[in-house]
Amino acid sequence: MTKSGNSAVTNLSPILPPAWLGILGGGQLGRMFIHEAQSLGYKVCVLDPDPLSPGGAVAEKHICADYGDEKALNEMANLCAAVSTEFENVPAKTLDYFQNKDIFVAPMGRCVSIAQDRILEKEFLQQCSVLSGIGPAPHHVIKTQSDLATVPTQLFPAILKTARMGYDGKGQVNVRDADELAVAWQGLGGNACVLEKRMPLAFEVSALIVRAHDGQVTAYPIAENIHRNGILHTSTVPSPSLVKHPNVSKKIIGASFEIAEKMAYVGVLCVEYFVLQDGSVLVNEIAPRPHNSGHYTMDASVTSQFEQQVRAMARLPLGDVTLMEPVAMLNILGDVWFDKDQAREPAWHHVLAHPSAKLHLYGKASPKLGRKMGHINCLGKGIQEAKDACVAVAHDLGIAP
Ligand code: ADP
Ligand code: MG
Repeated sequence: MTKSGNSAVTNLSPILPPAWLGILGGGQLGRMFIHEAQSLGYKVCVLDPDPLSPGGAVAEKHICADYGDEKALNEMANLCAAVSTEFENVPAKTLDYFQNKDIFVAPMGRCVSIAQDRILEKEFLQQCSVLSGIGPAPHHVIKTQSDLATVPTQLFPAILKTARMGYDGKGQVNVRDADELAVAWQGLGGNACVLEKRMPLAFEVSALIVRAHDGQVTAYPIAENIHRNGILHTSTVPSPSLVKHPNVSKKIIGASFEIAEKMAYVGVLCVEYFVLQDGSVLVNEIAPRPHNSGHYTMDASVTSQFEQQVRAMARLPLGDVTLMEPVAMLNILGDVWFDKDQAREPAWHHVLAHPSAKLHLYGKASPKLGRKMGHINCLGKGIQEAKDACVAVAHDLGIAP
């Protein structure tokens, strides 16, 4: 779904290769962004404090310093025509630093600030729901001890989530009642949190959209996501559960466009949604960047989410989001390097014996339990064929069904 923009029209000219692009963060998202930028002829400078970062290994230039290091930021600013970020926990001040130097920043610090604070994010999503009709789950903000006493009992059972720095289910505790809540809040350091009612989910989906500097927007088909231990396990596209509900898909994409437009967002934006057992839809959270649930676009779509991020930040026209084949993406965690306590090398040759399986490894030095090491996109002539290939590949790697 694509529509042409009418707001925030600017007359900025495109940034053409071989200009330098800057990326904050050299994790797997940074690395895949760099590959696409280089493929389009750009040079990339990555800022990441880790000397062994996956992105640092492939960029033309790796500035190995903290995200607040002014000397490093100045060096990057002198080199790059535009800057983007691979993660939302980069200090918003860092993005503002580049913006103040008239470097094109996509997404802007203001958008990233909303996504890095669950309290601001919930408030913002609530505002967007007035027009989109899709709001967040019932919740209560807990900043101080006295907020514990004002929690409505109908919010339980609930999930306590830290307002900042949570990801992959980290910084979250299930609580059944007010007593458990008090203990959990202390356990999370007494920091600002959001208490969210545990909802009866039927399934989870994410919308992946791209918004250009001139307001043009486009949306990939919706992905259906399965999480394990709070970490994404598989994404299937098109969403098998939404195939017979085009109106729900349309509403979700419309709500995602609304969110992007309200922030004057530029770049790739992922919005996670819950579909409840009664068929109603809630918005969960936003990720102001390419997202794990969009990795399928690398092999199944005409234009990958990383290429779109490059196009958006370079003020180029957006690419075609057409899905060429149904696909199921399987995340590969460090767990597959271990058989119980025994270290092993995964049998990649067995995975690649499936002709439609496309393997992507991130080049991380040490596998750890729960650490994202790579993913496999399994293509198929139909959704079931893609899902079957995904199950077979997972089996070959010893991943539990
Ligand atoms: P993260 O930032 O770690 O991705 P999320 O808020 O997306 O945190 O939560 C991770 C997962 O936990 C969700 O994808 C969903 O499976 C589950 N979850 C989160 N909030 C709720 C809720 N209110 N009700 C039911 N399940 C939830
Ligand atoms: Mg999430």
